[in-house]
Amino acid sequence: MWDMRRRVSLLLVRKVSRDRASMPNPACLSVVCPAVGLSPGNRIEIEVDRALCIGSGDCVDSAPAVFELDAEDKARVIDPDGAPTDEVIEAAGNCPVTAIFVRGEDGDLYP
Ligand code: SF4
Repeated sequence: MWDMRRRVSLLLVRKVSRDRASMPNPACLSVVCPAVGLSPGNRIEIEVDRALCIGSGDCVDSAPAVFELDAEDKARVIDPDGAPTDEVIEAAGNCPVTAIFVRGEDGDLYP
């Protein structure tokens, strides 16, 4: 009886080890994650930090098809593919408080 329990226990340990070995390394997830949620055209993700945004509208002036100001005078993204990537990055660079973050397939594009 003891041998049987030990064998089952060993088999379970081996299975867990195999399952863990087949799971993605957490360090790899950070490489994969930027690809999640990328826009279909530019293959970018734009984030506006609403806590930082002061509603200056510079991003809207720079790329009006990408950004707009909402009812609270905070910028929001309406279409990440509304302008070429270099124009989106330029618009992000025009933000006086660096509230816009642009990521691409290989990671951060701005800042
Ligand atoms: S440029 Fe920056 S601070 Fe101005 S509206 Fe856009 S995100 Fe907000």
